[in-house]
Amino acid sequence: MEEQNRVAPEEPAIQFAVLEDILNLARANSLWPMTFGLACCAIEMMAAGASRFDLDRFGAGVFRPSPRQSDLMIVAGTISKKMGPAVQMLWDQMPNPKWCIAMGNCAISGGPFEYEGQYAIVPGAHLIVPVDIFIPGCPPRPEALIQGFLALGDKITGGEHRNYLRRFHRRGGTRK
Ligand code: SF4
Repeated sequence: MEEQNRVAPEEPAIQFAVLEDILNLARANSLWPMTFGLACCAIEMMAAGASRFDLDRFGAGVFRPSPRQSDLMIVAGTISKKMGPAVQMLWDQMPNPKWCIAMGNCAISGGPFEYEGQYAIVPGAHLIVPVDIFIPGCPPRPEALIQGFLALGDKITGGEHRNYLRRFHRRGGTRK
């Protein structure tokens, strides 16, 4: 009897899950990386942003000069132990939601500088900040960084980002 009297819970008027999906798609298509490089991998990161590889095609060409305006940290290069606290502070200054790419072997594990007895290098960005995407290579090519952006977009949107790009390019690159 009690079972019959129970009122079915109403559907919420606004589906926040859908809104969040739309916001995530917008975020994945307009990542703002921080202008920030640590060593030679940063040269490839700069090449990715320049005209030949044109990171702008993926909405991520606006490198910001301040952590307050950035939602993506690309750790491109070797993190010395002296630089570690500065990297951590920059991460803390970025507003949420935010993501991190570890670009290159140095940022993943210390690269060629990680050997027994070394005392100066942090063996991996993940020891300082939460890393979302790891891109191996010494250095990785700009195409690999772009692949990392696509993988990050998929992580942010649960796979929808790549579908969106496929549909976008099938229409000849116009936002109809
Ligand atoms: Fe330089 Fe190689 Fe380290 Fe990149 S991974 S910062 S290219 S030594």
